[in-house]
Amino acid sequence: MSMVKEKNSTRLHVESKLMGESLNSKSFIASLEEKPQFRAYPNISVLKIGGQSITDRGAKVLLPIIDEIAQNSKNHKMMISSGGGTRSRHVYAIALDLGMPTGIIAKLGASISEQNSLMIATLLAPYGGIKVGHDDIVKLAAYFNEDCIPVTHGMPPYHYFERPPEVGRIPPNRTDIGAFLLAEVLGAKQCIYIKDENGLYTDDPKKNPHASFISEIGARELLNRNQDDLVVERTLLESLCHSQGVKQIQIINGMKRGNITKALRGEHIGTIIFKDV
Ligand code: ADP
Ligand code: MG
Repeated sequence: MSMVKEKNSTRLHVESKLMGESLNSKSFIASLEEKPQFRAYPNISVLKIGGQSITDRGAKVLLPIIDEIAQNSKNHKMMISSGGGTRSRHVYAIALDLGMPTGIIAKLGASISEQNSLMIATLLAPYGGIKVGHDDIVKLAAYFNEDCIPVTHGMPPYHYFERPPEVGRIPPNRTDIGAFLLAEVLGAKQCIYIKDENGLYTDDPKKNPHASFISEIGARELLNRNQDDLVVERTLLESLCHSQGVKQIQIINGMKRGNITKALRGEHIGTIIFKDV
């Protein structure tokens, strides 16, 4: 940045193309030359533990996953993000019935994913698990240096300011995009979604036995397909199209022992959705 002297004065200003601009002009934004995005934690893997798909299934499904994460903690630095799950659906249903606005519903969902992060952090505590809030993101280096496994709640903190969705009032930015945004701001190495299916299908495999598996697909291409149902939130796909750090995500089946280990090593064992624009 260069400094310029104000005319007839000793005052200094930062010379900037941004001065006097509305910052809404498409051509102006496109004309800006930006440095590549800084990556604070390029060795970190962000893992999202699904709420409905994993945590809600209790000990039988969650404990082996906690164990596999612990086994990998010597070789991989990880940060865990929690989903909300069935209790979020319950409170969304009640809140919709009561006419609550999207911002209130988003706030309610965040408190459920926080409950799950508390349980996951507690289960991981013997292996270095530590519950952190979103404000602790800038303190993560200290935790990683101590071989901790930070666990945070996945709902992005739009809360009362959540945007209204195109249809209805369910918050469009939930814990899938929350994990992605976390990985993006950390400059993480990878972002892995631990769910209960092998990955993405052409339709919900629980409802449509003829749904076929998609091993790899671009985010834009997937959005353009306009599938009725998806394994991750649509807002995540939209953001992946614009990401500067995270270039792909992988959705894996956490119910199969060994999958987390393979995904952490960078193996393609589920569905990879990549930035294709
Ligand atoms: P999480 O708890 O991880 O957020 P969700 O239950 O919200 O998981 O979403 C994962 C579920 O999405 C899967 O268990 C599956 O039943 C469903 N699903 C819907 N559409 C698809 C699809 N096209 N491909 C795979 N799974 C799908
Ligand atoms: Mg979900």
